[in-house]
Amino acid sequence: MSKFNLQTLFRPEVLALSAYHVANAQGFIKLDAMENPYTWSDEIKQTWLAELKDCALNRYPDPEARELVATLKMLNQLPDEIDLLLGNGSDEIIQLLLMALPSNSHVLSTTPSFVMYKQISDYLGLNYHGVSLTDNFELDLSAMLAAIEQYNPAIIFLAYPNNPTGNLFNVDSINAIIDAANGLVIIDEAYEPFANNASFMHNIMNNVLVMRTVSKLGLAGLRLGYIAGEHKIIEQLHKIRLPYNINVLTQTTVQFALKHKKIFDEQTTAICNERALMFNALNSLNGITAYESAANFILFKTPENQATQIFEAIKAQGVLIKNVHPQGGLLTDCLRVTVGTPDENQAFLQALKSAF
Ligand SMILES: *Cc1c(COP(=O)(O)O)cnc(C)c1O
Repeated sequence: MSKFNLQTLFRPEVLALSAYHVANAQGFIKLDAMENPYTWSDEIKQTWLAELKDCALNRYPDPEARELVATLKMLNQLPDEIDLLLGNGSDEIIQLLLMALPSNSHVLSTTPSFVMYKQISDYLGLNYHGVSLTDNFELDLSAMLAAIEQYNPAIIFLAYPNNPTGNLFNVDSINAIIDAANGLVIIDEAYEPFANNASFMHNIMNNVLVMRTVSKLGLAGLRLGYIAGEHKIIEQLHKIRLPYNINVLTQTTVQFALKHKKIFDEQTTAICNERALMFNALNSLNGITAYESAANFILFKTPENQATQIFEAIKAQGVLIKNVHPQGGLLTDCLRVTVGTPDENQAFLQALKSAF
């Protein structure tokens, strides 16, 4: 007999949650999670290891990660009055933002968008609202403005480019949302490296914050995200983060990697070139519609009622992509593929061709 009653021990929001499912990718060509497929040369790895050797593993890391913050501020050309908060991935920053809100707050984003906005809002007991995008994945501005009016959201998340659709929202619409909002507007620029310099990093003021991550750039294993905003906002968030949330190996390695940013720039260019080839190859297939992407993945539509079967057939051939069809709505019949190396992309296209 259990000594406790699970149903009363934990909050109903927690019990109601289904765990965030990450597919087991062992042995697959992995095109499901927007990772950069490229690694570092042995020479770079040796230089990196030499720096890691001097990490003081016995000491707590710098709680403010001052060196890394300075590097990030410099690279993003941020003025002194803009502050940064670092997180264990931008996922942690989304969690921190939402944890700071009063319990009856409303949170607004689009449907579809990055699933963590809703997932974390739900388990914190906040009121999450997703406003459907238009048929071409653009912001439905009048619906967004109506939702702002109705709910007065404390936080609005806009992924720019959006995940899983890959497009950049109309800038005028975003600005109209910023103007109408009485709460914070978080521009989530996780895919900025692939977006041809589209960014709000130089529009940070008042209620606008910009969030980035090094994950999609090529350092997903390190877990580092950051958000830039006015001092008086960032200051509050610092109070609720755990004191040593960025470990010393991450601080040292990101610092090192950003010093060699050229490597990532080359990899990013290669990925964007492959994205163009993949987009054309997908659209040349009868029955497939690929959507234009400013990110390192492509969303595409499959013939009606076949998405899951096609996804499984591709998987049976050793290629793992993401089936977003179960999310329904605008994603009905859709699959999402991350842009990999030329060989991986060919393997995917071969698998897709024989899948329907
Ligand atoms: C991947 C992703 C994130 C999370 O990135 P991490 O820094 O790895 O936690 C945040 N926002 C969007 C839109 C993403 O696609």
